[in-house]
Amino acid sequence: MTKKRLEKLHEALEAEKKALLEVEASLAGPGGLGVPMGEATGELSVYDNHFADYGSEMYERSKDLGLLENTRQQIAEIEEAQNAIAEGHYGYCHNCGQSIPESRLMALPRTLLCVQCKREQEDRDEDQRPVEEDEIFFAGEDAWGLGRDILPNEEFTH
Ligand SMILES: [Zn+2]
Repeated sequence: MTKKRLEKLHEALEAEKKALLEVEASLAGPGGLGVPMGEATGELSVYDNHFADYGSEMYERSKDLGLLENTRQQIAEIEEAQNAIAEGHYGYCHNCGQSIPESRLMALPRTLLCVQCKREQEDRDEDQRPVEEDEIFFAGEDAWGLGRDILPNEEFTH
């Protein structure tokens, strides 16, 4: 792999990490999961606390928790990939040591496994991690929208 391409991938990882950290901050920070339930939606909803609202808030929080978990997982993967770049073994499968095709790296810069090992890992982890990496990737994209949806008091401004 050329140095230039490696730099490009490093930049892509950096940009993706930055975006994910913002998602994480908006999910875990004020207005998100960082505040106890009830306080998160502001005084109005506590005052006007219908049972149904409570239920949907519970649902929103559990959805956000899953998202937060996914986001942190992706950040960890990116950091691992960046370490691999620094140590010079980026682009080689973590498991079998074979070189990973550049097209795969371009499509998913944080990948550490070749397609075959990734599949085997997914088969093994099926119970714990039923979501395929591509779906996780898109969940990350969704997080952009969700991140905006849970801005503090947004629901009272329209
Ligand atoms: Zn492999």
